[in-house]
Amino acid sequence: MSDKAVKNLLGYLDRSVTPGHAAAEAASVLAARGFVSLPESSRWDELPARFTVARGTGTIAAVIPGARPPEETGFRILCAHTDFPSLRLKPSPVRESEGCRVLGVEIYGGPILATWFDRDLSIAGTAVRRLAGDLVQVPYDLRRPVCRLATPALHLNRGVNEEGFSFNKEENICPILGLLPASFDLAAEIGRAADGDGQAPLAFSGHLYDTQRASLGGADGEFVFSGRLDNLAMCHAALEAVKDIEPGESTAVVCLFDSEEAGSGTASGAGSTFLDDILERLCASSGREGLFRSRARSMMVSADGAHAVHPCYASKHERANRPVLNGGPVVKVNAQERYASSALSQAYFAECASAAGVRCQTFVSRNDIPCGSTIGPILSTRLGMAAVDVGDPMLSMHSVREMAGTADHPGMIAAMKAHLSGIIRL
Ligand SMILES: [Zn+2]
Repeated sequence: MSDKAVKNLLGYLDRSVTPGHAAAEAASVLAARGFVSLPESSRWDELPARFTVARGTGTIAAVIPGARPPEETGFRILCAHTDFPSLRLKPSPVRESEGCRVLGVEIYGGPILATWFDRDLSIAGTAVRRLAGDLVQVPYDLRRPVCRLATPALHLNRGVNEEGFSFNKEENICPILGLLPASFDLAAEIGRAADGDGQAPLAFSGHLYDTQRASLGGADGEFVFSGRLDNLAMCHAALEAVKDIEPGESTAVVCLFDSEEAGSGTASGAGSTFLDDILERLCASSGREGLFRSRARSMMVSADGAHAVHPCYASKHERANRPVLNGGPVVKVNAQERYASSALSQAYFAECASAAGVRCQTFVSRNDIPCGSTIGPILSTRLGMAAVDVGDPMLSMHSVREMAGTADHPGMIAAMKAHLSGIIRL
C-alpha cells in the first residue's frame, strides 16, 4: 500500500498545477470511487451515500453520511488547502523590454522567491468562455516551459555569494516569455489549451508553475522531491483516506480549501461559509438545534505541512520538539493559538495514529521565531469546534521545490482513516 500511495502522490502533484487543477483532480479521483457531485445550487432533499460539493474553482468537499444522525455522533472532519505560493499573471501581462517580451506577475502567498529563478516555468489556470448562453470556467495548462526568470550572471553580480541574492519584487520578477518580433499570442494560446479553438477567452487567470516533475530521491529513495508538497501532500492523503473508508456511525467530511496562502478570506476559503453551509444542510432534519448538538460532538483534523528539523539549520528548531523526516505525523502546538491543537485534541489524534500503528511527533516554535498558522484556528473559531493541527514533516516549505519523506505519507493516510471512520470515541 505504501509504494502505491506514494506513486499516486507523485501523479497528483504533477497534475495539480493550480488549486483549480488540484480540486478537479480530487473530483475525478472521488467520482471514480462512486462519489456523486451535489451542486450547492440544488436541493439536498435526498443525500447520496457518498458525495462531493464544490465552490469556486479550487475548493471541494467529500461527504460520507453516517448511519446515525450527526447530533448523536458528531462529525469527523478533515481539512487541508489546495493552494500554494506562486506567481500569477497580472492583467495585460505581456510587455516589451530590451528586445524581449516579458511577463508582469503578482506574487501569491509567501514563496521563497529566489527559488523561482532559473526554473523552466509554464502557465496554467482557468479561462472563462460563454458557451450555450452560460459563462463557464475551463481549466487550461500550456504544459511546456514557456518562460523563465533569469538570474544575472555572476560576473555582473559579483557579491552574490557573500551578500546573498537580492532583487526588487517589481523590477526584477519579470519572467522572459520570448524575443521580438514574436508570433506567440498568449490569449490565443490559452484559448487553444482551454478548449482547442484558439479564440481568446473573455478572461483568464494565469498561474506560473515549475515544469519539473515530482520524483523519488535520496540515497535509498526515502524522499519525495516536488513543488507544491505544501499542501497537496495532505490533500492527497485526505483523498486516499476518504475514498476507501466504509460509512461508519458518524458522518465523515473532507474539505479541501483554496485561498489559505492569501489568508482564507474569500468566498471559498476557510474563512467562508462553505463548510458551515454543508454541516447545516447535513443537519436539515434536526434544524439548528441539531447543528449545535452535532458541533459539540465533533472533531476536526487540520492537515498541513510541518517543519522537519534541518540538519544544517538545526538551531532554528526548539530543543525538545524536532520532527524528523519519516518519523511520522507531526502534531503542532502553539500557545498563541496559531495552531488549533488542545490537550484533548492532541490525545484524540494520538489515539487515531496509535489505532493505525503509527507514531506521532510534535512541533512547537522557538519563542524567538514567530509561528506560522493554518486553516485550523480559522475553522475552529468559525465553527466553535474542537480541532487539532497536524502535518507530515517537510523541508524547504514555500520553495518552488520542496522535499518530504516517503514513509510519512502512508502513516498519515492510515491515521486519517482512523479519524474519518469514527472508531475513536470522543
Ligand atoms: Zn500550508
